[in-house]
Amino acid sequence: MARTYIDLHTHSTASDGSDSPRELVLHAQKHNVTTLAITDHDTTAGLTEAIETGKEVGVTIVPGCELAVQTPYGELHILGLWLTPEAPKLNQAMKELRQHRASRNQIIVQNLQNLGFDITYDEVLALAGSSSVGRPHIARVMLNKGFVPEIRTAFTQYLADGGVAYAPKKVLSPEEGVALLKEEGATVSIAHLAIHRKHPPEWIDDLIGSLRPLGLDALEAYHSEHSAKDVRRVVGLAKKHNLLLTGGSDYHGEAKPHISIGRGRGSLYVPPFVLEELIALRQKQGLPV
Ligand code: AMP
Ligand code: ZN
Ligand code: FE
Ligand code: FE
Repeated sequence: MARTYIDLHTHSTASDGSDSPRELVLHAQKHNVTTLAITDHDTTAGLTEAIETGKEVGVTIVPGCELAVQTPYGELHILGLWLTPEAPKLNQAMKELRQHRASRNQIIVQNLQNLGFDITYDEVLALAGSSSVGRPHIARVMLNKGFVPEIRTAFTQYLADGGVAYAPKKVLSPEEGVALLKEEGATVSIAHLAIHRKHPPEWIDDLIGSLRPLGLDALEAYHSEHSAKDVRRVVGLAKKHNLLLTGGSDYHGEAKPHISIGRGRGSLYVPPFVLEELIALRQKQGLPV
């Protein structure tokens, strides 16, 4: 029998992925992903369609989201898993975060115009057509108009923190982010910890220690951008703080063509015990799965 996969971190067109929620689930099924979390940035807009498609084709959907949180060393990302799509307080907070995104995107586009690029905010909105608009959409407009040879160049030269058109976006604090997700009954994990090279390891260790009592449940150990050494480091941190593990590809479709659903860059594999332990924890907490 073909190997099956678990993927607890993916993006759809509800944010900056290129597959619609339905396409994402169909793609998962085709690639033997049996449990799939949809974790769009700052929106639950894709969840209902994904859940319906999952029921239709036999893929278990974990409704989720990814929130950026601010730290003195730059952003970190947290994942909320097993949310209810209705989640009133979370949806209100995410609506405000999307408004902050809109103001920020307009500043970035203005910066690009000042640099001499013929680009408008309406072009970005038209290309995005999504609930949650972000820098990858701006990058794609730049690529389509021939201003950059690759998405990556748009980030390194212009859009990344330190790039010439960069503007920060207002986000929650780590404590606010964890509290908000916990309040809606989500299981909370810090995403792709090891890719944040600017954050001092001792500081990360302290942060985890301070978020644990607020309800942090897990750390994302398995991720497309984590080396085997990174995985060991995150597993070690999780053991130390008595946290569970999560794992996922961070699939974005054509927006990140080198990342495959379920398998990341080819060697990603989220072991079944990860999902089993998360489900057991939720059951112990009296939360639905
Ligand atoms: P935003 O949500 O607008 O702040 O954009 C952040 C998103 O941009 C991340 O979630 C990634 O999907 C993407 N991203 C960030 N840095 C890069 C990069 N260097 N190359 C390609 N995509 C990136
Ligand atoms: Zn993204
Ligand atoms: Fe992320
Ligand atoms: Fe992500």
